[in-house]
Amino acid sequence: MDFPLLNELKAAKEVIWYNDNYTSFDEVKDGLPVSLGDVLEAENRLKRFSPYIKKVFPEVIDGIIESPISKIDKMKSRMENEYNKNIYGRLILKRDDLLPIAGSIKARGGIYEVLKHAETLAIDNGLLKLEDDYSILADDNFKKFFSTYTIQVGSTGNLGLSIGTISAKVGFNVIVHMSQDAKQWKKDLLRSKGVKVVEYTSDYSKAVEEGRALSDKDPKSYFIDDENSKDLFMGYAVGGMRTKKQLEDMEIVIDKEHPLFVYLPCGVGGGPGGVAYGLKLMYGDNVRCFFAEPTHSPAMLLGLASGLHDKISVEDIGLDNKTDADGLAVGRPSSFVGKIMDKTLTGAFTIDDYRLYDFLKSLYEEEKIFLEPSALAGFLGPIFTSEKYKDENITHMCWGTGGSLVPEDIRMQLI
Ligand SMILES: *Cc1c(COP(=O)(O)O)cnc(C)c1O
Repeated sequence: MDFPLLNELKAAKEVIWYNDNYTSFDEVKDGLPVSLGDVLEAENRLKRFSPYIKKVFPEVIDGIIESPISKIDKMKSRMENEYNKNIYGRLILKRDDLLPIAGSIKARGGIYEVLKHAETLAIDNGLLKLEDDYSILADDNFKKFFSTYTIQVGSTGNLGLSIGTISAKVGFNVIVHMSQDAKQWKKDLLRSKGVKVVEYTSDYSKAVEEGRALSDKDPKSYFIDDENSKDLFMGYAVGGMRTKKQLEDMEIVIDKEHPLFVYLPCGVGGGPGGVAYGLKLMYGDNVRCFFAEPTHSPAMLLGLASGLHDKISVEDIGLDNKTDADGLAVGRPSSFVGKIMDKTLTGAFTIDDYRLYDFLKSLYEEEKIFLEPSALAGFLGPIFTSEKYKDENITHMCWGTGGSLVPEDIRMQLI
């Protein structure tokens, strides 16, 4: 195996990789294992659940789990000054840190898949019809029914937080298998909600493997498979799709002359991949998506650039997969997602951990926005791409993937 940048990746250097396989979305889209129809179905399902969400999480207005977009002009100036570089065009931030219930992008995929599973069980057992008002699912008889089923998931923290929280609310038994990277407060918070948390001294792939094996032994247990799940992907894709209306409402024009560049922090790939796919469905080639990964965990970049997908891990090239970006501490990418991104992703880049903290502080000082370290990985994107694209018509959008649930004392240490 060899490809340009391999030596830089091995040396844990910051790099940007532009994807030579990129192909016009019109040519690619019909050959993908997912379709617009799938995303629309997911969006409709979330609509059916909105009366339920509203009832059990009254803070979710309209029962639709969505986040705003912020203009961050001051942050843009700060970055230009600190890097002594121009960023051409405007800079905005998608606020998935504010997503209700889970405080991270995982509120999109995780909640969607759990609700879909609950719906399937209830319908198959004759307890629910598509036309019903789904707020009945909050009734005790449903909770009792769901309590005979188990949900399991492997996680570096946030997926567990999302799936644990919604599963416990629905009434499922839930077991979260946490990798060594998972932050203590995430485990504590879950336990306080009655979720069983199993801790591993190994990395994410191992936690997933163990969780999957345990779940397979129990016919009433359902495993949410972050490495392969189409349902998780669909939940994320709905978020990408909904962005279009939000940008229109902000009167931000996206077309051939005014492209959208999106920078997405990437772990196993489901979150950024799903969002990117939803964006591509809306904007085709007028959106260019970039994944951001820690220099010690460039799993997706390695899988795509080598063409080996999940047949290679960052350990295979001598990296340790150790990063403070807990949400991105993944050594082996999803092959399901990698194959979708193969011709649709414009590029990917890596970022040193210390820079996550620098961006975290800058963003807080300039905009009073707090994100968790993983969520800042995208901010190096506009610095990188502005070396190649000097076009004032670009809208750069960083996807802020998490932060609002970080406890106050930990926040204080970070800002
Ligand atoms: C999980 C996560 C990501 C990446 O999502 P993947 O599906 O693992 O690629 C990015 N940021 C945060 C904060 C996350 O929790």
